Amino acid sequence: MEGEIINIMDKDNALKQIRDEIWDLNESPLYEYRTQNNYYPVLGEGNHDAKIMLVGEAPGRNEAKSGKPFCGAAGKILDQLFESIGLVRADAYVTNIVKDRPPENRDPTPEEIALYGPYLERQIKIIQPLVICGLGRFSSQYVMNMFGIGDQMGVISTSHGKQFEAWADYGVVTVIPLYHPAASIYNRQLKDTLLHDFAAIKSLI
Ligand code: URA
Repeated sequence: MEGEIINIMDKDNALKQIRDEIWDLNESPLYEYRTQNNYYPVLGEGNHDAKIMLVGEAPGRNEAKSGKPFCGAAGKILDQLFESIGLVRADAYVTNIVKDRPPENRDPTPEEIALYGPYLERQIKIIQPLVICGLGRFSSQYVMNMFGIGDQMGVISTSHGKQFEAWADYGVVTVIPLYHPAASIYNRQLKDTLLHDFAAIKSLI
């Protein structure tokens, strides 16, 4: 699959394969919590040919109950961000680094990020987006590290909205760290910053 153009049927099948693997990921420290609560893993959702991919942290309760990413309050903000640039969420592909809900919405652990991160890397290779936005510091840092430019990241308060060019095996990709939308739910200033940072995406796709 290295560097080649992949047709949509192959993409659908390759993403289904990842979904099946995650479904059976019983070595995950989050697997038992998932099954005990009748939660779903959350693979991601959207256009398998998307030019833009958004990577959040991990599913919350609503997401684990439905199997869909960003369906709570943070998801409403995501929808507003897309609307502000004349797109809808379905134009993009939205996922998380960690595909199962951590208890009490705690931060994902380094072990969880290391276990689930390779699935995100496979999703990126399959979908081949031109722009990848990390939502929050964990996902932004992971994506920057993955492309070998992690040392350029710094803290999210200085790197948010910056465009970092990287080489994927399918071509050039622009990585943009963003604040996590959940952080802007009760913070108007942060929401304005997110809207401002998001506006720059329009010219890239
Ligand atoms: N926060 C995330 O990072 N991801 C989701 O899917 C929902 C909330």
